[in-house]
Amino acid sequence: MEEKDFFVETEVTLPATLHCPSCRQSETYDLRWVQRKKKASLPPHAGEQDRRRFASAKSYSVRRDDMVQCKNMRCRKRFEVSGLQSVAFL
Ligand SMILES: [Zn+2]
Repeated sequence: MEEKDFFVETEVTLPATLHCPSCRQSETYDLRWVQRKKKASLPPHAGEQDRRRFASAKSYSVRRDDMVQCKNMRCRKRFEVSGLQSVAFL
């Protein structure tokens, strides 16, 4: 079994406050995340090793957006999302 068999995937959008490094303006940006929620149980055909892996698996989310475009109309520069983790446990 693969790791994806352990989780139910959903795309979510979460707001984050980010500072543009060019104009230093801070704004709220909607960032896309993929949430992987651990399934309630494994399918019946899962083996011993799968059960052990499943037992230690945790729900988590992975950030999809690495770059955003500055909301300041006079700036509009793209900058990297920093100071924010890219993987978060739920
Ligand atoms: Zn800017």
